[in-house]
Amino acid sequence: MKKRHLLAPGPTQVLPEALLAMARPIIYHRGPEYEALLARVREGLKILFQTKNEVLLFTSSGTGGMEGAVVNTLSPGDRALVIRSGKFGERWGEICEAYGIQPRYIDVEWGRAVEPHLVAAALKADPSIKAVFATHSESSTGVLHDVEAIARIVRATPAILIVDAITSLGVVDLPMDAWEVDVVVGGSQKSLMIPPGLAFCGVSDKAWTVVERSRLPKFYFNFKAERKSLEKNQNAFTPAVSLVVALHESLAAIRAEGLPAVFARHDRLARATRAGVTALGLELFAERPTPALTAVTVPPGIEASAIVKTLRTAHGITISGGQTKVKGKIFRLAHLGYADESDVVVCLSALERTLNDLGYPCKLGEGVRAVQEVLSRAG
Ligand SMILES: *Cc1c(COP(=O)(O)O)cnc(C)c1O
Repeated sequence: MKKRHLLAPGPTQVLPEALLAMARPIIYHRGPEYEALLARVREGLKILFQTKNEVLLFTSSGTGGMEGAVVNTLSPGDRALVIRSGKFGERWGEICEAYGIQPRYIDVEWGRAVEPHLVAAALKADPSIKAVFATHSESSTGVLHDVEAIARIVRATPAILIVDAITSLGVVDLPMDAWEVDVVVGGSQKSLMIPPGLAFCGVSDKAWTVVERSRLPKFYFNFKAERKSLEKNQNAFTPAVSLVVALHESLAAIRAEGLPAVFARHDRLARATRAGVTALGLELFAERPTPALTAVTVPPGIEASAIVKTLRTAHGITISGGQTKVKGKIFRLAHLGYADESDVVVCLSALERTLNDLGYPCKLGEGVRAVQEVLSRAG
């Protein structure tokens, strides 16, 4: 018998209350029971996004929300600026290009954070840029980008700022109204502790004026149609009812814990994980690490795939390796969503044994001790 631990950066572990809610008989999405539930979900999403505006909900993976953000804000021939610092930043560019938008790119070395002054310079060099696309927590490199600083630059211009917050919402502070971020995209299977299948888009007043004028083709991911339906506690099309029911549970759990406490928990788990891996002599890959996950540089002489495989087969732990450019160079330990101290302790203890088994000698308990030292400190 082996217990399984899912410590990958999505899908993440599902909240037990959400699992139980999904096991109940399905309800009719045009009936009063669903409408009352959706009314509470709308409130919960506004709290999570820290916005007074409606947060739109689509049945798709997170990428659907990203596509929606592109097609509802741009028009043919528009200029866009894309910050490309990993796989998800690249995705913004790919979606733009799929719709005939040729973005200007700010290319950032993987593992590094964008320098916000580069965004200011790009906007100054081309004042016709309509939208800036950024990634808050870049899951492919483990970097947290400084969205607050980027927003300060973009809000002083006519351009709007569109942020992929799929692994940062409910992990680290992102007050969209206060920072004046214009579109914030979230997904269900990361910090929201429910399965994949829902995407969310928070939209600012400034962005809504742009949405009114947008002429790129769209049908399913139509912001105006979705907002109109939500205002009547409806969805434009049949939603993934079971996932909305699960979301109701996870939003309630986040509200009960309180956003500041949720952020503090992720920060502690991240600091503990970083302390654990560095105590084993390993190096962090990200220069500005996200509290959602820890990207670790693979030490010389060891195969990244062997680390991932041994953790899975010998210890029942699923983590992620690197993708595309950093495949074989890093592995990623996630600590977001329904994750707590025990997950980090289990992960580091198994990592110590795995590294020893693979010929990277480390003293058993050294990583775990560093984890415990962080966790036992107050705050
Ligand atoms: C997971 C993730 C996505 C969305 O991917 P989907 O597979 O479409 O849900 C987008 N951006 C980031 C930063 C992510 O971590």
